[in-house]
Amino acid sequence: MKVNELDFRVTNANDLSFELLVDGSGIEGLEEADNRSIPSWEFETAELPNYFNHFKKRQEHLLGICSCGHSGCGAAGCVLKKDSSFVYFTNIFIDGLELPDDYQLVFTRENYESVMERIQQEIRRFSQNA
Ligand SMILES: [Zn+2]
Repeated sequence: MKVNELDFRVTNANDLSFELLVDGSGIEGLEEADNRSIPSWEFETAELPNYFNHFKKRQEHLLGICSCGHSGCGAAGCVLKKDSSFVYFTNIFIDGLELPDDYQLVFTRENYESVMERIQQEIRRFSQNA
């Protein structure tokens, strides 16, 4: 099983957004798109935000939304699964783009959790300086 490396980049879209990086570049299919970053307000906990937080799709998580900041607009997401060692981004969907059914991204839990914690640190730092 190929294990990917998760990282992120801070952008100033909607004041503060995060663009996920996989193996050093943007998520395949999102690099050219206008929906590649996630605004800071979507990160309520040190976890990839749910897609449509208050609706039925709770198992689906955001990978990026339209630069207008509206999560119903141009969204990309995935189903997040975890086991004791790894985190899987499966069933990746990107508006207007078909990805192969077996396409998934795999990260160690340590890598995933440290990225989510570093995003929380960036959000705290930004709100302290606002
Ligand atoms: Zn939009």
